[in-house]
Amino acid sequence: MSKTQTHEFDAVIVGAGGAGLYAALEASSIPGNRTAVLSKLLPIRSHTGTAQGGIGAALGNVEEDNPEWHAFDTVKGGDYLVDQQAARILADDAVQAVYDLENRGLPFNRTLDGRIDQRRFGGHTRNFGEAPVKRACYAADRTGHMILQTLYQQCIKNEVAFFDEFHIVDVLIEGHRCAGVVALELATGALHVFHTKAVMIATGGFGRMYRTTSNAYANTGDGPAVLARRGVPLEDMEFFQFHPTGIRGMGILITEAVRGEGGILRNREGERFMERYAPTMLDLAPRDMIARAMMTEINTGHGILGDPSQDDYLHLDATALGADVLAKKLPDIREFCQTYLGLDPADKPIPVQPTAHYAMGGIPTDLDGRVTADGEAGVYEGLYAAGECACVSVHGANRLGTNSLVDLIVYGRRAGRHMAEFVRQADLPTLPGDAATHAEMIVKRSDKKPQPGQAAKIRTSMRDIMMDSVGVYRSGAGLSKAVEQFKALRAEAQDVGVGDTNQAYNTDLLEFLESQNLLDLALVTAASAAHREESRGAHSREDFPERLDERFLCHTLVTVEDGSIRFATKPVDTSIWKPKPRAY
Ligand SMILES: Cc1cc2nc3c(=O)[nH]c(=O)nc-3n(C[C@H](O)[C@H](O)[C@H](O)COP(=O)(O)OP(=O)(O)OC[C@H]3O[C@@H](n4cnc5c(N)ncnc54)[C@H](O)[C@@H]3O)c2cc1C
Repeated sequence: MSKTQTHEFDAVIVGAGGAGLYAALEASSIPGNRTAVLSKLLPIRSHTGTAQGGIGAALGNVEEDNPEWHAFDTVKGGDYLVDQQAARILADDAVQAVYDLENRGLPFNRTLDGRIDQRRFGGHTRNFGEAPVKRACYAADRTGHMILQTLYQQCIKNEVAFFDEFHIVDVLIEGHRCAGVVALELATGALHVFHTKAVMIATGGFGRMYRTTSNAYANTGDGPAVLARRGVPLEDMEFFQFHPTGIRGMGILITEAVRGEGGILRNREGERFMERYAPTMLDLAPRDMIARAMMTEINTGHGILGDPSQDDYLHLDATALGADVLAKKLPDIREFCQTYLGLDPADKPIPVQPTAHYAMGGIPTDLDGRVTADGEAGVYEGLYAAGECACVSVHGANRLGTNSLVDLIVYGRRAGRHMAEFVRQADLPTLPGDAATHAEMIVKRSDKKPQPGQAAKIRTSMRDIMMDSVGVYRSGAGLSKAVEQFKALRAEAQDVGVGDTNQAYNTDLLEFLESQNLLDLALVTAASAAHREESRGAHSREDFPERLDERFLCHTLVTVEDGSIRFATKPVDTSIWKPKPRAY
């Protein structure tokens, strides 16, 4: 192994998606702050770049709107597991954050009088649930791509130091003080220690735990998994969102904006079945409700094939939108359908199935993005998290469409600001003498015997188990079995060697590290889901179909120690709205 290099910065941000870049922009705007961004991908290939439909903010440009309604929708959409002051901040700050992006050069679609145009999205309503409202600001169906480009350019302007294709394998935490990270340079195989006053983890989602997912290959949850190994608890891991409309068999996302613009879900009889499940919001009900309705239609023989044993699907009918609207507002979606399905959605319905999409849970933080410890232990000093890997918690048990991009820019910015102020005052903590030792142990596989195909077999098993037992519907028996299976797969993975011994771009090693991270997260997801004996938001238990506020109106904190899993709870902030049954 090459010699370990050590770098020194004031602030180190891991992840160059929307959350990481916004934080880097803030951290680097204080003169003298030396800010670095580490990313295992080239920054503009981060998953934020694939976000299609829009970013929610109550600008009221097209219809009357109000941030308070946005906050309420967020809380109700999250089935009351959302921390309500956090949701208020999200909705209030979203308005200025969107204008800031506009001022920084983001080319939003416009109304005829030149204002930012807005469209409908699921669960977003006017006047506390009366009817759908146009709240999603968008740049065609490339909103995330535009956000990423805009922020990246601004970071370059601020002279942020980028370390591209650096993969973190460890975070250095002593007591409750973070002193840096250790990363593997993919081009050389060398380990690098980044010694710093503050670290932010912004590594995105982990949908790759599932067989069918909208998530990019890189979404492997490295940040939460690395922290969990250092004893940091993870929050609300049982809540994983299935997006209703993935392309059949592939999981590639067809944005909710298709339904926002008037697309309709239909079963084999051509019926608009959402009329029966959500009479007010119809096809724009929250995603958890629609995904469940779709699975129920399929399981009762109303899928297009009429046979639930056949990986059945439903139709998303966008033919009424017309070629013009599709070309102007959803050009990428039209192209996806042409490329992957050989059909034009202007003429034919799109075959769709629910696809694993978004992690509501993750690294617990306070309102300033500081990572919080278990119970009374307070915060980790100099350790921040933001974006999909974090849980602040504004999405609760189910995220509304467009609210992730808002989360990135509102809480990425807030956390970045706090971090900038913190590093201005803080001293550089002492670097542990053995800083790279733990990381060396993680990446060193030479004493293990390579077993061709074994790592891939373990990954496939994990994805199948997640899909079949930890998917849209769950049961106690299935979840308990999944927990045992994941424990066995983790033990098996310990002994797998890496066939490729090259230093440069060792993708075998990289895949191995990513799979280990996914397996750890799969285990805590299944265990947390088994622990929560109720149904709430995206977590739907066949054996406990009701929401049980008396027992479970609380966040789950899960810690893995020496293979055993420990649970704790954290209260939910319900200071504004009292939990009510959800109807749409
Ligand atoms: C297809 C699709 C469409 C979507 N559409 C929308 C939408 O319209 N509206 C909406 O609100 N939300 C949408 N979402 C959700 C939203 O895009 C994501 O939740 C969000 O972009 C995540 O941003 P992030 O900054 O947290 O992470 P990401 O953008 O995923 O970036 C993660 C970063 O972390 C880095 N990284 C990861 N692991 C490591 C490691 N080990 N070492 C170093 N770096 C690492 C990566 O290189 C990357 O730079 C969509 C998601 C998908 C998948």
